[in-house]
Amino acid sequence: MAHGGEALSAGVFAGSSDLRSAEERLEFGRWLFAQECRFVAGAVNEDAVPQPTHPEIAFAGRSNVGKSSLINALTGRKTLARVSITPGRTRQLNFFLLGERLMLVDLPGYGYAKASKSDIKSWTSLLGRYLKGRSNLRRVLLLVDARHGLKEFDREMLTMLDEAAVSNQLVLTKSDKAKPEDLARIHAAVAQEASRHVAAHPEVVTSSAVTALGVAELRAELAAFAAGE
Ligand code: GDP
Repeated sequence: MAHGGEALSAGVFAGSSDLRSAEERLEFGRWLFAQECRFVAGAVNEDAVPQPTHPEIAFAGRSNVGKSSLINALTGRKTLARVSITPGRTRQLNFFLLGERLMLVDLPGYGYAKASKSDIKSWTSLLGRYLKGRSNLRRVLLLVDARHGLKEFDREMLTMLDEAAVSNQLVLTKSDKAKPEDLARIHAAVAQEASRHVAAHPEVVTSSAVTALGVAELRAELAAFAAGE
């Protein structure tokens, strides 16, 4: 790349309005997601949620949807999101600070078959309060398995996001496992449903943590929030 490297990226960051060309956006995304990403806090209740210090992006989805894998693919780490999978830490909101500029939040996976009713109630209420009260929350990525499309819990989440007026985007995961014809059909169905939700971005992203499909573009899109766009 003609202008690759940290100097350009830092320069691009300094003048966010210069983040124009697709190539620059991709480069800034690549650069930002290669920076240090550190675990800041795990919150089981509202009091433990850290102060809103940086633009924030949250990742949501059914358990087993591929959330940890996508977060790890974005940050280029094999074990980052697994930090949260130690016992007792899967039901909490985990905050990771990327490059001292963008907070990534791993929300608890929902729809977990073995979760008790009281567990579900307590995390739904924590999640609801987080979504409604988080002024620095720029976007929620709602992950959906590319082979299955939207399920009831996802629809509830979309409604919750509408009510909280939180900008969100649907991301199809594990696309490498879906047959091309199924993928096209499910993508169209998901996009159609997204269009009925005011807070949902009309464009549905297709991704794979295995082939890295969509990963560079997602990095660029999310990095733009760190640059104040
Ligand atoms: P989480 O519970 O949402 O964090 O899901 P994980 O990231 O732990 O993934 C659940 C399972 O799906 C694991 O066995 C992963 O290896 C697998 N997986 C995740 N992402 C992909 C993907 O993009 N492609 C394929 N083929 N498998 C994936």
